[in-house]
Amino acid sequence: MSIDRIRESIATAARKAGRDPDEVTLIAVSKVQPEARVLPVLEAGHRVFGENRVQEAQGRWGALAPRFPGTEIHLIGPLQTNKARAAMELAHAIHSLDRPRLAETLARLAQERGACPELFVQVNTGAEPQKAGVLPDDADGFVARCRDLDLPVMGLMCIPPAEQDPAPHFAALREMAARNGLAELSMGMSGDFETAIAQGATHVRVGAAIFGARG
Ligand SMILES: *Cc1c(COP(=O)(O)O)cnc(C)c1O
Repeated sequence: MSIDRIRESIATAARKAGRDPDEVTLIAVSKVQPEARVLPVLEAGHRVFGENRVQEAQGRWGALAPRFPGTEIHLIGPLQTNKARAAMELAHAIHSLDRPRLAETLARLAQERGACPELFVQVNTGAEPQKAGVLPDDADGFVARCRDLDLPVMGLMCIPPAEQDPAPHFAALREMAARNGLAELSMGMSGDFETAIAQGATHVRVGAAIFGARG
């Protein structure tokens, strides 16, 4: 589907929920996609992209971003501590802050650099053993810890279990954000971004529906 069609779907979902479409940022998830699919989206004027691997993102956007001023990279994949510095140099936002050691590393680097990307705490709303993210019961404490470290935590992020209705997970994330005074919600992918918008998403991460299936 074209990026314009996705934007229309986002706007429709937002209005249906009584929300302003401008409250929803579309992150076009370009991970693994060939440049031939990414270029038309840049040329159509879109500037906000999601990547899940630091090295892959550096390889692509180091050359591409300077050609398209205003390009913002959102890192949405698990982040290893030893990639934190590169991630901070590259990213406008990191959506996968999920453990104390990473928080401490980011805080140290932020101090050193005098700047830090916007941060989202990833919550494992389904408490799935194989999935990244803090457990729901640990979220409030972890957000408080990040604030103690002066990290710019803007919101929460989740990826609901694949086989479940995502709506209750999105609703739970919204409640967690509200009670922690966090305004941003990174939730919703190709299959469920409309549901996420109905539940308050401010950032949707859409890949396949824009670029086609990943090879
Ligand atoms: C790959 C990915 C997406 C995009 O998924 P699609 O189903 O292609 O829209 C969104 N969020 C995260 C964290 C991802 O890894």
